[in-house]
Amino acid sequence: MSLDTSRFIAEHVDALKPSGIRRFFDLASTMDNVISLGVGEPDFVTPWNVIEASYHSLEQGYTAYTANAGLLELRELISDYLKTTYSVTYRPEDQVIVTVGASQAIDIALRAILNPGDEVIIVEPCFVAYASAVSLAGGVPVSVGTKAKNGFKLQPEELENALTSKTKAIILCNPNNPTGTMLNREELLPIAELVEKHDLLVLSDEIYAELSYEADYVSFSSLPNMQDRTILISGFSKSFAMTGWRLGYAAGPAELIQAMTKIHQYTIMCAPTMAQYGAVEALRSGSASVEHMRKSYRQRRNFVTSAFEEMGLMTNKPGGAFYIFPSIKETGMSSEAFAEALLIEEKVAVVPGSVFGESGEGYIRCSYATSMKQLTEAMKRIKRFVEKQQA
Ligand code: PMP
Repeated sequence: MSLDTSRFIAEHVDALKPSGIRRFFDLASTMDNVISLGVGEPDFVTPWNVIEASYHSLEQGYTAYTANAGLLELRELISDYLKTTYSVTYRPEDQVIVTVGASQAIDIALRAILNPGDEVIIVEPCFVAYASAVSLAGGVPVSVGTKAKNGFKLQPEELENALTSKTKAIILCNPNNPTGTMLNREELLPIAELVEKHDLLVLSDEIYAELSYEADYVSFSSLPNMQDRTILISGFSKSFAMTGWRLGYAAGPAELIQAMTKIHQYTIMCAPTMAQYGAVEALRSGSASVEHMRKSYRQRRNFVTSAFEEMGLMTNKPGGAFYIFPSIKETGMSSEAFAEALLIEEKVAVVPGSVFGESGEGYIRCSYATSMKQLTEAMKRIKRFVEKQQA
């Protein structure tokens, strides 16, 4: 008889639900000719000069660990970038840490601040990792839903209703995955007031900040009195098409960044050295390639927004990121049934909104980080599928 190894698994890990996105990828990978609007990553290859700089660093023998918090040169560039782009000032020496993707920044930020039972507000529909990251850090995720009729924008009174004496932090993602919603200064200010009134911290996930299409991006940290209450999280995955490099960063109050660095030094040591050299080049030279990608995403956003409108599926025009979140309520199907049938019948992979939280039910997430040719074909197939359901 083989040993039942499952009994060794910690209860809080056993209780985690596997990400609902994976199931669709696994199914799609068994099929030919599938157009995937499922994955949340750029279709661009990392700019060549970034690849070359990383390659060069290896040739020069830079193959050892860096400082725990990352190369000082990279932290200086991150600090300069945040200042020139978002008017927020961070000392590279002790207020910036380079991490293994924004994912690790979120993990160590939560582990650094949460005592068992502390509550963290999660604004749904949201990135699938937040709730699990809070649970793994010993905290309790508390969901606040947003609605399509409000453009999936967090309503301050709904946020305030969810706060308790145990609330320690809010995770805000702006622009948002999966809705593409972007909050402007006027919409962020009342949230900042509540953060101050209730003595909270904000984990501000700004990984899509470079991909804003309508208005200038406002970093949460730049709002009055918010710099001391914000851990700004970002990275290179989306804006520089560097998902596989696994490089991100956090900037925040020195005490919090130092607490995060303690966890980082014992668990990770440092982010990959060759990726850090690539990131140095990305920040030194990056704005032209970022602008090129942003323009292309904007064009695709306009195309998919009109396509869904023409199909009669209600949708908000995304303000940022590379996702659109149209309603499929018009078909009478659940989001999971819709996504599954669309994949099997028309070979288009999308993600059911329900995986992003309860308030995502009735919607699907489509990533438009794929070529116009693929998008045009995908929209044709979705239209045919929707018409069949409504016939
Ligand atoms: N935050 C959000 C909102 C994301 O969508 C993602 C990636 N899908 C991440 C963080 C993680 O990014 P990284 O590759 O830098 O770990």
